Amino acid sequence: MKKEKCKKCGKCCRYMAFWLSKKPSKDIIRWVNLHKGAKVIKEGKYWTYRFYLKCSKLKNNRCSIYKQRPDLCKEYKCWEAGFPKP
Ligand code: SF4
Ligand code: SF4
Repeated sequence: MKKEKCKKCGKCCRYMAFWLSKKPSKDIIRWVNLHKGAKVIKEGKYWTYRFYLKCSKLKNNRCSIYKQRPDLCKEYKCWEAGFPKP
């Protein structure tokens, strides 16, 4: 099986996502989606709140604090999160 690898596209540095344990109500989905830059989406098997906010440390599509980046960034693999590949 081919090993997945980060393509360094920077996509995951352009939003924050909070995974939900279950599908939110229609009213919550509608309310969140009325906000510019916010969405409730289902990607793969997860429902998430997604906020389109670029990280302040992303410069020229590269992490400017790469060696000191948060553990969350180090551990994140979009293909394991069930999100579509960039
Ligand atoms: S983890 Fe995925 S979304 Fe993030 S930079 Fe790598 S390939 Fe892109
Ligand atoms: S700290 Fe670096 S790796 Fe983490 S989200 Fe910001 S730019 Fe991306």
